[in-house]
Amino acid sequence: MGPDMGLDEDALDYHEREPPGKVAIATTKPTNTQRDLSLAYSPGVAVPCREIDANPADAYKYTAKGNLVGVVSNGSAVLGLGDIGAQASKPVMEGKGVLFKRFADIDVFDIELDQDDTDAFVQSVAAMEPTFGGVNLEDIKAPECFEIEERLREEMDIPVFHDDQHGTAIISGAGLLNALDIVGKDVEDIEVAFSGAGAAAVSCAKFYASLGVPREQITMCDIDGVLSQERADAGDLSRHAEPFAQGVEPGDLADAIEGADVLVGLSVGGIVSQEMIRSMADEPIVFAMANPDPEIGYEEAKAARDDRVIMATGRSDYPNMVNNVLGFPFIFRGALDVRATEINEDMKVAAAEALAELAREDVPDQVVKAYGDQPLQFGPEYILPKPLDPRVLFEVAPAVADAAMASGVARESLDLAAYRERLEA
Ligand code: NAP
Ligand code: MG
Repeated sequence: MGPDMGLDEDALDYHEREPPGKVAIATTKPTNTQRDLSLAYSPGVAVPCREIDANPADAYKYTAKGNLVGVVSNGSAVLGLGDIGAQASKPVMEGKGVLFKRFADIDVFDIELDQDDTDAFVQSVAAMEPTFGGVNLEDIKAPECFEIEERLREEMDIPVFHDDQHGTAIISGAGLLNALDIVGKDVEDIEVAFSGAGAAAVSCAKFYASLGVPREQITMCDIDGVLSQERADAGDLSRHAEPFAQGVEPGDLADAIEGADVLVGLSVGGIVSQEMIRSMADEPIVFAMANPDPEIGYEEAKAARDDRVIMATGRSDYPNMVNNVLGFPFIFRGALDVRATEINEDMKVAAAEALAELAREDVPDQVVKAYGDQPLQFGPEYILPKPLDPRVLFEVAPAVADAAMASGVARESLDLAAYRERLEA
């Protein structure tokens, strides 16, 4: 697909139209009379304040906290634009708020912090805990993003989730489960090669391990080749990538891909050849997710071999788009609705499994129509549900809530059948 010539102008018009930007605050209670106002603000407002002072959990009862997520960024790794800073990142963070609202009816304050110092950033976000039911960290560069999330998860009693790390991991993980189902391979038996060892790749590799891929069957490559034991010993690798180098022989990307069942590309466009795809095991799975151009093109990968290649990319113009919007709105919905203290590994795995299962079900006509009548049926060209499929909310949010309850991080318990009905209403 060539560049969309009208897109730039349309995007500016869309954002500029009165009122500027994409979000506004709405009030949810009557504000018509003097009486209403004295309830909303002084003097009446003092009463819920006293209640919350006596019992902090009442913040969920008397304020919007429980449905409010902070989308927080310092603008240090924005889309493919790089470190454009906090102010320039605001359209993206407002946009994230639009998606939270559209897909899961969650309200968002977008918070752009002009702060590149990790300690100061962590302190600022931690201090905002009273405001929010959860925090979605966004577009923060590696390696700081790992430490920031780790520390905030420890310090805060509400879910803290860096979507750039976990979103791609969860969605591609769901696709992986289904691709393996189609080719009849077991998650415990596969060899997985990664092109890329950055923020997205490391998070995916960790998550695939949670899904059951043995760590020693994962080989990662960065710009200097395979992450090997030798490089780990030389102190050349980050703490987060290092576990994947244990016992691994030196080599290059081609060595890592040879014989692999799965290739995961989270690096740069065009660096994987047809030759490399031919060197993979039977019916290989190729998730080439570099944006905007994948590590190898869709047609090119498919044409490389006579047997089936199951392909996914980050692009909307090919089948099997790995799109984060399939995850974060519904994961936060489930987490907020049980007042979870965190989004843990069990909840992420539950989300991936729920997405994978949903893709195996028949697709309602309304969803098929919304996607221009392309046939949507479980198989190599449809391993993930579509974001506009309303069932994603009804399946993923309860699965996440259930996993939160089962893993002991829920502060509220829900009757899941009733919860599902409430979501469907
Ligand atoms: P990142 O942290 O900058 O990591 C990029 C990684 O690619 C680094 O490990 C880098 O190696 C490696 N790399 C660069 N050039 C390479 C080459 N020629 N050969 C082999 N490896 C090379 O970036 P990221 O946030 O992880 O994102 C990586 C890519 O994934 C981007 O294209 C991004 O758009 C894409 N992505 C897609 C999705 C999606 O489709 N849903 C989601 C997230 C990310 P060094 O460490 O040696 O520099
Ligand atoms: Mg992002």
